[in-house]
Amino acid sequence: MPYRLTVIGTGYLGITHAACMADLGFDVLGLDIDADKIRRLQAGELPIHEPGLEPVLRRGLESGRLRFTTSYEEAAAFGDVHFLCLGTPQKAGEYAADVSYLDRAVESLAPHLTRDCLVVGKSTVPVGTAARLAEKLTLLAPVGLGAELAWNPEFLREGFAVKDTMHPDRIVIGVTSERAEKILRDVYEPLGEVPMVVTDFPTAELVKSAANAFLATKISFINAMAEVCEASHADVKQLSEALSYDDRIGGRYLNPGLGFGGGCLPKDIRAFMARAGELGADQALTFLREVDAINKRRRARMVDLARELAGGSFHGCTVGVLGAAFKPNSDDIRDSPALDVAATIGHQGGQVTVYDPIALDNARKAHPHLSYAISALDAARGANVVLLLTEWQEFIDLDPEELGGVVATRKIVDGRNALNAETWRSAGWHYRALGRP
Ligand code: NAD
Repeated sequence: MPYRLTVIGTGYLGITHAACMADLGFDVLGLDIDADKIRRLQAGELPIHEPGLEPVLRRGLESGRLRFTTSYEEAAAFGDVHFLCLGTPQKAGEYAADVSYLDRAVESLAPHLTRDCLVVGKSTVPVGTAARLAEKLTLLAPVGLGAELAWNPEFLREGFAVKDTMHPDRIVIGVTSERAEKILRDVYEPLGEVPMVVTDFPTAELVKSAANAFLATKISFINAMAEVCEASHADVKQLSEALSYDDRIGGRYLNPGLGFGGGCLPKDIRAFMARAGELGADQALTFLREVDAINKRRRARMVDLARELAGGSFHGCTVGVLGAAFKPNSDDIRDSPALDVAATIGHQGGQVTVYDPIALDNARKAHPHLSYAISALDAARGANVVLLLTEWQEFIDLDPEELGGVVATRKIVDGRNALNAETWRSAGWHYRALGRP
């Protein structure tokens, strides 16, 4: 009989995992403590923006294979395999990750586990968390050792979450028994041939931290080169193109610009540093401090460039901001560089109007003091300076003549190096970009 799955924590990761697993043919029960979210999901309404996910959710509901609940008792009775997809945000005032949501979930689930099952952590956690949670699980579950833990870090990218879940480039599982390995091999079998790394808990946990540290480093590397280009009147866009032809380097994650944000990379590299410190290996990761610092400096540099174009001060200056999401094709505004820049300019006296194709509702809730527009043209109307901060395709496709018709002055800072500088300059725009002359 195929396994019945539960997915605990239905956020960006959990909803995707639950809907895709149902699509693969499993019976899935999603659980969250947010009753409103569960009500919306059960009604087929996606509480997040993720391209292609809503039809998968609806198919699951219509097939009867996907349901949602707020009851841990029901989840425990239903599931053979329980996936933990809880958030692990940065703790307030420190670098470490707050893993308490995982602890609460295990404490809520375990007392109802009266038959053998596998609990599978998918959240990104500091190394050592899985071993600690495994002990807690066995201690609290009436079935004792019959409730086993495995760790299966998730690598999906927002904006490509469905594709990444259905066609992962690798699956990593940390297990302590052949039984756990067999169950996870069975669960992922419908995905077909996917490289699988079977390892222990700490290695599985570290793979995710290491992957994010590498990606963050690559982005900050090219942004550090942008700083040197700015100082030497060189062009980082051409520099990155020339580097990308070297297949030892590769062009991905090598786009100079405003840097990374979101609910993963920034907090994950900080949590990684904090954990290494606890383990006495802090020296190994001191370079990540610099990676983080370079990333934050790009935001400050963006504000400086905008102020320069505004004539030295934002007072009396109208600024049109294109983009609020931390990256295109997402409504996620967690640690969004775009909103960070917009808010800073607002604090420095600028009259800021923001437009984003999808993330406006989230942005409005987080930054109610900023003004919001219903289109790019609307945001740019009367602007002394326009800032492109999230590289949505709709912004890349903007007609410089049409936009030029609504602004007060044709000045634009391209924070993502996404526009064709020549096209904009020949339409009479004063075009500036990070890392370019
Ligand atoms: P999220 O904040 O969107 O979702 C977490 C969900 O857990 C929320 O819906 C919340 O209501 C729910 N929750 C909180 N406490 C709960 C409890 N006690 N019981 C049940 N549900 C509870 O977070 P996310 O972005 O989905 O990330 C989840 C984890 O996955 C994090 O560790 C993250 O680093 C990792 N991850 C995320 C992504 C991504 O692209 N978002 C990719 C890979 C890994």
